[in-house]
Amino acid sequence: MKLFWACLLFALFASSSHAQKLRVGYDQKPQDAAAELNSLTKQTQTLDAWEKRKEVVIQGILKGAKLETLPTRTPLKPIYDNKRNYDGYTVESVAFQSSPGFYVTGSLYLPTKYEGKLAGILCPHGHGGRFRPSRQSRCAVLAKMGAAVFLYDMVGYGDWQVNGWSHKKTPEILRLQTWNSIRALDYLESLVFVDNKRIAITGCSGGGTQSFILSALDQRIAVSVPVCQVSGHFFGGCHCESGMPIHWSKTHKTNNVEIAALAAPRPQLVISNGKDWTQKIPETGFPYIKHIYKLYGKESLVENAHFKDEGHDYGVSKRMAAYPFLAKHLKLNLNAVKNSQGKIDESFITIETEEDMYVFRKDFPLPSDAVKPNSKLP
Ligand code: ZN
Repeated sequence: MKLFWACLLFALFASSSHAQKLRVGYDQKPQDAAAELNSLTKQTQTLDAWEKRKEVVIQGILKGAKLETLPTRTPLKPIYDNKRNYDGYTVESVAFQSSPGFYVTGSLYLPTKYEGKLAGILCPHGHGGRFRPSRQSRCAVLAKMGAAVFLYDMVGYGDWQVNGWSHKKTPEILRLQTWNSIRALDYLESLVFVDNKRIAITGCSGGGTQSFILSALDQRIAVSVPVCQVSGHFFGGCHCESGMPIHWSKTHKTNNVEIAALAAPRPQLVISNGKDWTQKIPETGFPYIKHIYKLYGKESLVENAHFKDEGHDYGVSKRMAAYPFLAKHLKLNLNAVKNSQGKIDESFITIETEEDMYVFRKDFPLPSDAVKPNSKLP
């Protein structure tokens, strides 16, 4: 009898451990990721097979992130302050409510002069915060090229942090952060001067995770450039990337290469390097993504820019790869940022201080209807 109960308990444990699993950090070795992608390639030999698989994976991610039913889309009620004028572009502080009382804060970069509609670009950031010069630089360049660029705080960073939010203590942060990205897209779409057919997302590291997750879940993203994060064997080390079971449930098992492939056939540039978990992208990850694009006859729309001697950043060389790609697919004016030698020149940019960039300040305080720090999204 004891043996019976032991067997039953083992069976229950085994079935529950297969039903749902967090894939965190280096959850598998690169060779296991290669085998996993190889097996996925065999399963997706036709567009029909892929479309079925795609639906299962998207539903698995939504369910894992508890976004199977999205929260109610309440009014964003954007508020603006402190518009700054620079060489060919402006920056304005913005906050909107992703849900009542949840204030998403960031900087809206626009070209100083423009005619007609602008492309829209979301710039989520990684675990170094919104204020880093490299992040400000790409937003300024893209704005001057003719885009409305929104650089927004991750939960627990920037204005959230000042107002008491903790990246580590916020429950279900992956859910809240993904919802904030969906609403940031709603916000860009709400701007009358933005062309809703030309909206892109680009970010590095944790911002890369947000880029490929939003592109996978939201078809309104027309172009994506995930930087230094797409990997078959690394799943993101932070609970905002892998703290909820988006990669493995009883109905699906996936990895971040396949999640990036969910953007197919929309234009995508995957940027990787030789010194972090993206080092195997040219050998194993990118061939899989290209295989999926090929099923649509659109392999020319996906590219990999690999920097084998570089590390984990969205540094100037990687930005120089992203600018022409975004210009091509969003119809931006690359010439607006070229110097007399015909080279893209970032020297016109003014790097702001953190104090310049905070949205809420003494004379523009956080509204009194803000929810308590570290609240759970309803
Ligand atoms: Zn995180």
